[in-house]
Amino acid sequence: MTNLSAILDDIATEMAVETERGAVATYIPELAKVSPDHFGIAVVTRDGHIHSAGDAAMPFSIQSVSKVFTLSMALERLGEKCWRRVGREPSGDPFNSIVQLEADNGIPRNPLINAGAIVISDILLADRTPSATIERILAFIQMAADDAAISIDNAVACSERDTGERNMALAHFIRASGNLDHPADRTLEVYFNQCAIAMSCVQLAKAGRMFAFTQQFDPDVLAPITPQHARQVNALMLTCGHYDGSGEFASEVGLPGKSGVGGGILAIVPGIASIAVWSPGLNAVGNSHLGALALERLAHRMGWSVFGTT
Ligand code: GLN
Repeated sequence: MTNLSAILDDIATEMAVETERGAVATYIPELAKVSPDHFGIAVVTRDGHIHSAGDAAMPFSIQSVSKVFTLSMALERLGEKCWRRVGREPSGDPFNSIVQLEADNGIPRNPLINAGAIVISDILLADRTPSATIERILAFIQMAADDAAISIDNAVACSERDTGERNMALAHFIRASGNLDHPADRTLEVYFNQCAIAMSCVQLAKAGRMFAFTQQFDPDVLAPITPQHARQVNALMLTCGHYDGSGEFASEVGLPGKSGVGGGILAIVPGIASIAVWSPGLNAVGNSHLGALALERLAHRMGWSVFGTT
């Protein structure tokens, strides 16, 4: 693994001169303030080494990458019963699509689209206040990343709440269908705040270790997620983690990955590495344009793929 740092440096240099960088999300006004020039990447390997390049220490809004952590918490809390309230199939639709929900009777297609993640937030809210639930989510991520400095960007959370009509529509529809135990505004309070968690690539790659090296955690010391649940989350990342761009990401990168509209992507090489990449410019389906390109090059140069090396 000695050349990994050199490969990351090369990729960061290549990304710095790319002129096609995608477009920064504007529907959450606070995200529109971020420069598309940023690029960062960090990799944590099985031996615990952290390799990084570019803006890897700069915090960004993790947005939908949070959905894999809240899903993990819900699986630990409710186990297989989660799958009664949310499906496990690719949606083939945009992340904030409304049309599918009615056809599916308020059972979102998977937990990585907005509708599904809102149901997961509702599961985590059981017997707790929204603020206690948000604290637990943050504590879970801090523990996984081994970094108590990780925090919520309140400006982003407010910005999302102020412009969150689409998510409100999703939540109200799910509630009307009988699949939300709490009022929509309470559930969304959790959802908006989890999306507003700010992390650097280094912190995110460290948190992603729970999906890459689950067996390695000593269950008595730190067991964020069981191996069985890690496998389920990885499978969902591969099939659904990039919304209607999931098939292309799986075929070009060949790794489970979860994107967010802040431009971050968490990618997992099971048993080998946890990778976080960040570049704020998005492609047409809302996934980081350079993030996916960088992962494609890294996976190719390292021979990393869940489908074996080719
Ligand atoms: N907070 C964003 C939203 O709800 C998350 C979407 C995303 O990252 N794809 O619209």
